[in-house]
Amino acid sequence: MEKGEFELIEWIKGQFPVPDGILGIGDDCAVLPQREGVETLVSTDMLVEGVHFLLEDIDPYSLGWKSAAVNLSDIAGMGGKPIGTFLCCALPKGLDDGFLEGFFKGYKAISDRFDCPLLGGDTTSSKDRLCINVTVLGECPAGHSHKRSQAMPGDLVCVTGPLGDSGAGLKIILEGPVADGQENTLRERHYRPVPRVEEGIRLASTPGVNAMMDISDGIGSDLRHILKASGAAARIYVRSLPLSAEMQDVCQKRGWDPVELATGGGEDYELLFTCRPGTSIPVAHTVIGEILATGSGHDAGTVEWIGSNRDYTGFRHF
Ligand code: ADP
Ligand code: MG
Repeated sequence: MEKGEFELIEWIKGQFPVPDGILGIGDDCAVLPQREGVETLVSTDMLVEGVHFLLEDIDPYSLGWKSAAVNLSDIAGMGGKPIGTFLCCALPKGLDDGFLEGFFKGYKAISDRFDCPLLGGDTTSSKDRLCINVTVLGECPAGHSHKRSQAMPGDLVCVTGPLGDSGAGLKIILEGPVADGQENTLRERHYRPVPRVEEGIRLASTPGVNAMMDISDGIGSDLRHILKASGAAARIYVRSLPLSAEMQDVCQKRGWDPVELATGGGEDYELLFTCRPGTSIPVAHTVIGEILATGSGHDAGTVEWIGSNRDYTGFRHF
């Protein structure tokens, strides 16, 4: 890296002006005003080279974009508005300034898109791997954050957009080569996910919307988190899962199972939520099933997949 640590921090700071009343990069702490009737949401995510990404497989812009995007998505999953992020990075010796320029371009693009400036962080060196940790702060009206534990028997299970695009994109990247524009679209969906922030805020203020979370590991795993936290089971109609034309096409061409990708591909960063039947939902969505009471063969956390004779468990990190 050619820039020294303090030069680098100054350079980062120059790119992230902060709103009035907030103190961002440059002191021992960031300072944010507290307002009555508002609750603060905090989440953090770590990305380790070789575990979560391979430097030769992802361009710096996408890595910057995605590092922030996955965190904003956690705020969206609670129905909050993102306020600012903190970025800690351990930079390996040979990393060039071109990498950092691309990384911060991507990080800045999504920060600007969601009005969520970088407010601080830490910069250190690493022996050989790049490690990135982002923390995000968000807020919502007190009592409005939507938790995984809020699903009720009889609720409909819904998602805000197509499932499996990102998983298909990752498989394309790993198996290569990219054949056509469709495959490129899926690859983009993997590299540059767009968190459903607006949708989350609108859903959170809709009476009748109950449990909510963002989909990072695929519904096979994420839906179970809602079911376990809520003490419920679910029935999912495999034929109702929203699949993009691009994803179905590539599955046909490459012989992949679209349902496997939709339930376990992960990293779609759509929202998964439950609502009372008849709720008027203010955002684009697809109903994929319903929440069941436990008992009569349905233990808490179990999913009955209608239209398939197998189970889908989603992506596991370990
Ligand atoms: P300290 O020694 O007090 O911890 P640092 O020298 O680590 O302070 O950081 C100085 C300022 O720069 C702080 O405001 C910190 O939040 C910010 N900062 C350091 N690294 C980063 C980074 N990678 N991204 C954003 N802000 C950073
Ligand atoms: Mg420090």
